[in-house]
Amino acid sequence: MLAKDLRINELIQRDPKTGFPQYGGQRLLITGVATLKRFYEDLYNIIGPERSAILFTRMGYDNGLAGGLALKNMYEFESPVQLIKALQIVTPMVGMAREVNSRFEYHPEKNIFFYTGEWMHSFESLIWNLHQTGNSSTPLCHMLCGLAGGYFSAVTGRDVLVKELSCRAQGNECCRFEARPIEEWDEEKDFFHEIIRADSLDQELEFLRSELNRSQEFLKKQQQEIQRLKQRTCRPGTVEHGLIYRSPQMAKLIELAEIAAPNDSTILIQGESGTGKELIARYIHECSKRCDYPFLAINCAAIPGTLIESELFGHEKGAFTGAEKSKPGLFIEAGNGTIFLDEIGELPFEVQAKLLRVLQQKEVMPLGSTRKKTVSARTIAATNQDLTQMVTDGKFRKDLFYRVSVFPLFITPLRQRREDILVLARHFLSRLNDSHPGFTPEAVRRLQKYDWPGNVRELENCVEYAFILSRNLPIQLEHLPVSINLDTDESFAGMISDFPTPKDLIKRYAKQVVNHTEGNKTKAAKLMGVSVPTLWRYLQE
Ligand SMILES: [Zn+2]
Repeated sequence: MLAKDLRINELIQRDPKTGFPQYGGQRLLITGVATLKRFYEDLYNIIGPERSAILFTRMGYDNGLAGGLALKNMYEFESPVQLIKALQIVTPMVGMAREVNSRFEYHPEKNIFFYTGEWMHSFESLIWNLHQTGNSSTPLCHMLCGLAGGYFSAVTGRDVLVKELSCRAQGNECCRFEARPIEEWDEEKDFFHEIIRADSLDQELEFLRSELNRSQEFLKKQQQEIQRLKQRTCRPGTVEHGLIYRSPQMAKLIELAEIAAPNDSTILIQGESGTGKELIARYIHECSKRCDYPFLAINCAAIPGTLIESELFGHEKGAFTGAEKSKPGLFIEAGNGTIFLDEIGELPFEVQAKLLRVLQQKEVMPLGSTRKKTVSARTIAATNQDLTQMVTDGKFRKDLFYRVSVFPLFITPLRQRREDILVLARHFLSRLNDSHPGFTPEAVRRLQKYDWPGNVRELENCVEYAFILSRNLPIQLEHLPVSINLDTDESFAGMISDFPTPKDLIKRYAKQVVNHTEGNKTKAAKLMGVSVPTLWRYLQE
């Protein structure tokens, strides 16, 4: 075998069983230079330039040694000279550099070995250039020197040290290096021994161990801090109650809810529809000492005014037409639990008076009965209306308002806490299929931009809709409901929101069509039914 006859794609093969790339029977790991750059930087910062130089050289040396020995075993080379020349194939093969202008002398019988050459595009000089803009004061291609040294040591059977004389990282055109047996070098001997001697590794380990301890201390402190922050923004238990959030507004709300939970005061939850008022009410119930008793919810808007009274307070048999059986009513059924009165603003005026009495006296008198029953349930009310305004308008009793709003909570609409949108969307998606591949970046942007007038409930419906359309592929724009796709700044409504002149409007419209055709003006003109020059005119006006 001659060096020039080596083929990289034959040297690097795939393991038929695992598919892993391998060279000379050893599995290879492919790492990007940009990734390595991080590693170089970290190591430089942690253990300093001298120690990193030793480690990188040693890594290269071991690599070169193994690579050289493998090559020696792989083929029958015509002469040892061919094996030495083969380094010119190995160096680019592993992606480290391209070797040029090499010159060498090798006379084993006279103990002569000398090799010199140049590296073009050394990956280490590239890392240095990625790392900083100024020139280095010293050569930096440690792993390359190590590789060549290890390789020559393997093929000559002597300890060979490679030194970089000048480096690209110093501002030179290329890197120049020289290889000689170790005894021919003077001051570099110690360095060489550091590289190949095992005991230096012990020192290194000792040093690294102390560094590690220091880092672990630091990490521990950081983890404590993260834990503390986590508890503040996402308390354990809130997730299982469906309370998914990242916003400070929701964190504050949950905190208030937890403070209010153990007390028995009436709570009024206000917020637009779909914000999850019942979820908060349930959470308060779960956090209270009433959690082992029932949580009964009633939507005051969903029950006809004539029936709501008996639903809430119960009735005796025959109290009214159709009352064939007596009914205890929710306040009694709830026992020591919690009653959630949703849409309390919809309660008929006369029922409001009765509710007030129940809340004040903790007693209920079922319809048609003469005996009062003691109420021990707690009341949580909710509304999406402006109760203060309703009080002013005379539609809601002032005294009841003060009675129920002892502890008011307000849920911020979703559009004012956009950081919750994605975590919620992902949560809903994972509930449908926890191995779904998720949302494309475009879909995420659209979800985060949309105003969500229907709040969390609308988002939940939207995710379910998109989930069905996506058929377990990543959710794209086209999978989102039309209403969400239309509502963007580029929509017609957005386009005319500032009352533009017709000329301006045409320009905006033309721009949007061009956006739609991804910049293809011929296509855009065709869509608009105008010629391309006309389209140009529209765009320039
Ligand atoms: Zn260099």
